[in-house]
Amino acid sequence: MSSPATIKVCTPKSLPGTDLFAAAKTAVEINPANRPYVRPVTALLPAGTVTKEFISAMTTKYWKSGGVHLAVHFLDTDAADLKARIISHMNAWSPGANIKFSESRSNDAEVRIARTPGDGYWSYLGTDILHIAADQPTMNLDSFSMDTDESEYKRVVRHETGHTLGFPHEHLRREVVENIDPKKAIRYFLEADGWSAATTKAQVLTPLEDSSLIATPTDTVSIMCYQLPGSIMRDGRPVPGGLDIDDQDRKFAQTLYPAKLVTTTHPVAKVAAHAH
Ligand SMILES: [Zn+2]
Repeated sequence: MSSPATIKVCTPKSLPGTDLFAAAKTAVEINPANRPYVRPVTALLPAGTVTKEFISAMTTKYWKSGGVHLAVHFLDTDAADLKARIISHMNAWSPGANIKFSESRSNDAEVRIARTPGDGYWSYLGTDILHIAADQPTMNLDSFSMDTDESEYKRVVRHETGHTLGFPHEHLRREVVENIDPKKAIRYFLEADGWSAATTKAQVLTPLEDSSLIATPTDTVSIMCYQLPGSIMRDGRPVPGGLDIDDQDRKFAQTLYPAKLVTTTHPVAKVAAHAH
């Protein structure tokens, strides 16, 4: 097993602050379930805490439950074998779910992939990709080529595609974050990845707010979970992290984006369907 320090991890991108409200509005328009579940406890927070920024930050970025069909444009390669290989790994999310990525030669494609060396692995989250300028990437697969190991295609392409589908990092679940020693983590990520304390705080030490949409148990071998060494964990036990889409990831994708809509024989539903 290779040392966690040698594994290049994902640094997800967030939209600039000025776009946060517009992006939150887009997310709720596309899927009303993205509206944050503001817990009763927020009523007890000091006045001014529940701001527009707070609500925007808590808005999830899932696509509509009717299915996710996105076009993919490659900004820096026209190699048919490479493009097909990357797209095949994106579509590893498809079985049992209404998820389909198809290649497009147009900048109008929702997903735009670059392979800029040194820029790392990242993707914007879900519906946020609609707020990126058309000539800019929404995902970076640093230096990916036909020589890249198949295991990295599974670990990285499938993970970044998970972000494009709206899935946040699993290791930001409160249960995991509360088990990380902040001082040790800051020192570790500075040495391993050159991250500043602020980057480590944002990427590893800030738990996700509980949401009605992430009701599944914490899964430390999810494809969306980092590998975290035991040396930075309070209980000394490493978080294994995911190397491929696991059963719980797949179930979650199938629940959010079901392959077939549930049919109903309810007469009102039929009338409504005919009316449109
Ligand atoms: Zn990531």
